[in-house]
Amino acid sequence: MRDPLPETIIPRRAGQQALTVSGSLPEGATPRLTESFGVRAPVTVNLRFGAYGDDKVLVTGQLMTRVMGQCQRCLEPFEAGLETEVEVEFGLENSCSDRGREIIPGIDRELNLAEFVEDELLLGAPMVALHDEGTCVPPGEAPVQKAVVAGRRRPFGELGSLLGRKEPD
Ligand SMILES: [Zn+2]
Repeated sequence: MRDPLPETIIPRRAGQQALTVSGSLPEGATPRLTESFGVRAPVTVNLRFGAYGDDKVLVTGQLMTRVMGQCQRCLEPFEAGLETEVEVEFGLENSCSDRGREIIPGIDRELNLAEFVEDELLLGAPMVALHDEGTCVPPGEAPVQKAVVAGRRRPFGELGSLLGRKEPD
């Protein structure tokens, strides 16, 4: 069994330890995400912390869950995977990234892991949820009827012709 995820992390220490965090957040740990989308699966967390430079910690990894969204085209609810790649730096106040990454001040401040994960998932979530093209029907538009090919069934007709037998008149 995996160790439970830590509730809080000090980024500088995690970076020095080259900490890897992997596991699932407990249910109810991401209330804002649940409010915006119904969360349908535990949030899976895979993060790596690494110190670099003097006062920087780079965090990379992936966050995954399944959510319920409402399709903005047909207004039907649907379930979809939500996955976010994380690549952020923790640094000192007023520090700026030399690689153009998102930088979060507070390298020495206690980080609430669930809140951080929730922020990153909300940032990565699509603003407009839509079904894949062609899988939904906007209200007021008739669904495309699939042509039903009506035909008399002749269970062995084809087999008969394959065997070279003459069809009865
Ligand atoms: Zn739709």
